[in-house]
Amino acid sequence: MNKQDLLSKSKEELIEILKKYDQPKFRANQVRDWMIKRNTSDFLKMRNIPIELRESLDEDYQAYPLEIMDVQYAEDGTIKFASKTLDDEIIETVIMKYHYGYSVCVSSQIGCAMECVFCASAKGGLIRNLTSDEIVAQILLAQQLIDTRVSNVVFMGMGEPLNNYNNLLEFLKQCRDDEWGLVIGMRSITVSTSGLVPQIRQLATEGYQVTLAVSLHAPNDKIRHRLIPIASKYSISDLFDAGRFYTEKTGRRVTYEYLLIKDMNSNISHAKELGNLLRKNIAHINLIPYNPVSFLPWEAPSEEEILKFANTLKSAGLTVTVRRELGSDIDAACGQLRSKNL
Ligand code: SAH
Repeated sequence: MNKQDLLSKSKEELIEILKKYDQPKFRANQVRDWMIKRNTSDFLKMRNIPIELRESLDEDYQAYPLEIMDVQYAEDGTIKFASKTLDDEIIETVIMKYHYGYSVCVSSQIGCAMECVFCASAKGGLIRNLTSDEIVAQILLAQQLIDTRVSNVVFMGMGEPLNNYNNLLEFLKQCRDDEWGLVIGMRSITVSTSGLVPQIRQLATEGYQVTLAVSLHAPNDKIRHRLIPIASKYSISDLFDAGRFYTEKTGRRVTYEYLLIKDMNSNISHAKELGNLLRKNIAHINLIPYNPVSFLPWEAPSEEEILKFANTLKSAGLTVTVRRELGSDIDAACGQLRSKNL
């Protein structure tokens, strides 16, 4: 049988566990401190803890609910790692290096229920939600690999974070808890969503100022519906309303993302239509050239088409950025993560 982990225990639970080894209460804080603030998952290295206890914990438990199975390094410095959950599922996480520091792209679910036609994670459907501790553990393991703190967390790995709403909220709570938890600023966290309108509205009122990124990907409802099945439930206009509400409540600008797929949403006519749509609603759009997935038929447009698309939007008065792709040589680029068990 697999061991249990200690990271997911509450303070009270950890005190109780350590009591069985005749340990005083303060030991719980020490163990937690090693696991989180000092990024250690090896009990034997927890130096200020009695050696017999270190050995017993090593025997009986594992520190994190995830264990690294495989690490891949891309030429541009991007790192992808696979880790195993306590129930033997495999998830993937990506670490990207930017001029300001490291950003970790975490998975929020094993598989995904959204069924976006272009996305690798959609294959096989949803297996289960990740717990908040499994999300925290991805960050801690990333920090072990790079031997430094990460500065940003983006929910752009496998899964739909707003479809795992309670655990996402629990994760945000843990990030803010400076006595017991991981301290990461809300403004350094980006939650990307395929557009779940009720959850966007709900998140707006929770008091967390995380950055929200919305996957728009189409200049009209018809094309959006073809790409993202959930779009049949919420129109683009509902989505913009929810985005405005989010900004009103949190003071945070919403980022809109637009995936460029050849012969689907990336012609000049689409750029013009998108320009008209955006002009009335938002001023900035982030273009993402599609990253091909081996078992899917979609392709990215040519460099020239991407440039033309961006320029058409710019001449309509919008601010446009084109996302730099990292880690494509190790299948770590956006949208390429999926559960290896499928
Ligand atoms: N469920 C969330 C997070 C998913 S991944 C969401 O939909 O936003 C983050 C982004 O990667 C989303 O915008 C998603 O549409 C995009 N994406 C998915 N597959 C991709 C691919 N093959 N190439 C580039 N981007 C992709």
